[in-house]
Amino acid sequence: MFELTFLGTSASAPSVHRGLSSALVQFRNHRFMVDCGEGTQRQLLRSGLGFRRLNKILITHGHLDHILGLGGLISTMARWEMMEHVDIYAGASALNRIVRLFEVVFGGGTLPPALVLHTLHEGVVFEDEHLQLQAFPVEHRGADCFGFLFAEKSKHVFLVEKAEALGVPAGPERRQLVAGEAVTLADGRVIMPEDVLGPPRPATRLAFIGDLARTRRLMPWVQGANALVVEATYLEQDQEMAQQFGHLTAAEAARFAQRAGVEQLILTHISRRYGGGDVLTEAQAIFPHTMVANDFDRFEVK
Ligand SMILES: [Zn+2]
Ligand SMILES: [Zn+2]
Repeated sequence: MFELTFLGTSASAPSVHRGLSSALVQFRNHRFMVDCGEGTQRQLLRSGLGFRRLNKILITHGHLDHILGLGGLISTMARWEMMEHVDIYAGASALNRIVRLFEVVFGGGTLPPALVLHTLHEGVVFEDEHLQLQAFPVEHRGADCFGFLFAEKSKHVFLVEKAEALGVPAGPERRQLVAGEAVTLADGRVIMPEDVLGPPRPATRLAFIGDLARTRRLMPWVQGANALVVEATYLEQDQEMAQQFGHLTAAEAARFAQRAGVEQLILTHISRRYGGGDVLTEAQAIFPHTMVANDFDRFEVK
């Protein structure tokens, strides 16, 4: 299960009720921040999530409404000396801008040693035994814009009755079998993983895309996801403007979700031009399982 908390949901400038883009994806003991618009550190505090274990920051693209908060956030973390290690992942051009921002904050050539900057490429960004996080290129304005696919690894169900019947003792032997290794019992019998493992459980997938101009070529990444997060900066009545500035309308986002057969669509990057209600109405007419995220909303994706 992924726990998704929105810290900011406004497009390009904050409003009274919405901060600039940022969200937190929590999975087991991992916390991934996606984007860090201006004001994110205060939103983090207000959300009750705080700064602890915040060590992976993913940046969708280098527009200022998605990165300006990094200066304040990292400066605070460095000053409070609570920063053991922070990895920031961004496309090459976004990273270039972030480096220049940090030069202003920390002085040229003196980044905090705990800060590690990584250039994003299509493919695996992070992986452990439970989770795979991949980045994929998206079309917005400018080069090096990315979306992220969080995928829980599918696990086989351990069939306790079968293990008991075969006389596999509780303990390291069972852990080995779950890990896919054969085990030789004290009496010399060899037990194979498939003897005690059932079919794999379906794995949860969360696709997170920031600003987006066109939905083509994204199907392999988002198809069948349990949840899709994507922007809806405009309404269909302003489709020309959406196209001009490289954004989606609520209807386009909804058609995208429908084509991809996702379970749930969560819209963000809401313009001050409209109320969230108008965005929701337009999208739900096409894809009923749509929500419009508000700041501090929490979703369980499972
Ligand atoms: Zn934006
Ligand atoms: Zn943008």
